[in-house]
Amino acid sequence: MFQLNENFQKLPGSYLFSTIGKKVNAFTQANPDKKIIRLGIGDVTQPLAPAIIEALHKAVDEMAAAETFHGYAPDLGYEFLRSAIVSAYKERGCDISSDEVFVSDGAKSDSGNIQEIFSVNNRIAVCDPVYPVYVDSNAMAGRTGVYNKETEMWSNVIYMPCTMENDFVPEFPKETPDIIYLCLPNNPTGTTITKEQLSEWVNYANKVGAVIIYDAAYEAYISEDNVAHSIYECEGAKTCAIELKSFSKNAGFTGVRLGYTIVPKELKSGDVSLNAMWARRHGTKFNGAPYIVQRAGEAVFSMEGKAQLKEQVAYYMKNASEIKTGLKDAGYTVFGGVNAPYIWLKTPDGTTSWEFFDYLLENANVVGTPGSGFGPSGEGYFRLTAFGSYENTLAALERIRKL
Ligand SMILES: *Cc1c(COP(=O)(O)O)cnc(C)c1O
Repeated sequence: MFQLNENFQKLPGSYLFSTIGKKVNAFTQANPDKKIIRLGIGDVTQPLAPAIIEALHKAVDEMAAAETFHGYAPDLGYEFLRSAIVSAYKERGCDISSDEVFVSDGAKSDSGNIQEIFSVNNRIAVCDPVYPVYVDSNAMAGRTGVYNKETEMWSNVIYMPCTMENDFVPEFPKETPDIIYLCLPNNPTGTTITKEQLSEWVNYANKVGAVIIYDAAYEAYISEDNVAHSIYECEGAKTCAIELKSFSKNAGFTGVRLGYTIVPKELKSGDVSLNAMWARRHGTKFNGAPYIVQRAGEAVFSMEGKAQLKEQVAYYMKNASEIKTGLKDAGYTVFGGVNAPYIWLKTPDGTTSWEFFDYLLENANVVGTPGSGFGPSGEGYFRLTAFGSYENTLAALERIRKL
């Protein structure tokens, strides 16, 4: 008789966004006349840039003629896209070769799948609060031990609290981890660390023999000069770091689906190359991102594409700045919003994250995300995204100010 992967039974239930969805639905049913503004889920709202639409149309037309039709894409990505990615790294002073680039359908899959090439005996360290995929994918693989409902922590996960007390900068843990997940600029806190601080993490990982899984999904939102756009800007990163990138937040590909992962050839365990392992894994389980979508990805790196996307990012960051200053003026303590499209606010008067969620939903009809949904250290915080329209952002702020 079949048996199940019992690790799935250990997972805590009720996904954050489904709980939010249920609460919002209940509210709208009871108050059909109220217009809700959603600044909760981290999804973009602006349409794809013209350069990308043009590339998509062109690639679709190619599929209509036998001479230009494309079937299966190369497992690891088309050379035209991988070399565009390599050039972008070169502009940042990072020496990445195209056989270190693995094109995928997005950073969520890669961040969930990458743990497969590591032993089940490895210990992971994560920031708290955290993007839930890192922990849950390791839990499914049986790497996280026992879940404690009271503390909301796994027995075999090292948590690195990131709170206003340490300026949201993770500290080196007391116990030595084998795999360290870093997402910078950070979802959910919207904060980041300097290149100097990141270099310290690279040195630490090299010293203790850990690997850093570096999620750079929000790289395009960096506005400050002393922040690294890639972990490979830090000396020594190629022997300890895997970098995950996405087209979702910089180019609006959340519904188009495209991402890539960098696994440097210098990254080894003994004489085993992680690059070769990931190539084997990716080639076995993934049959390539669509040709049409990879052409769209190529357009992201074109002159027109870059100019148009810079404007798109600026549009969202204008929202971020409005939210941040608006909330500050209203007396809130706010973080983030400078190098990332998220505002992380301290809930007022000691209210819990969920109490503040209900308060905002009922009184301002604005939906945000309770910080506690991202981990125990997120309790007492609340996330608002800058991904809405400018008009909705201003309207939401006006309502919050009137409370
Ligand atoms: C949005 C996001 C991603 C991107 O995921 P895709 O699958 O590429 O859409 C990755 N990591 C974090 C932390 C994110 O917030």
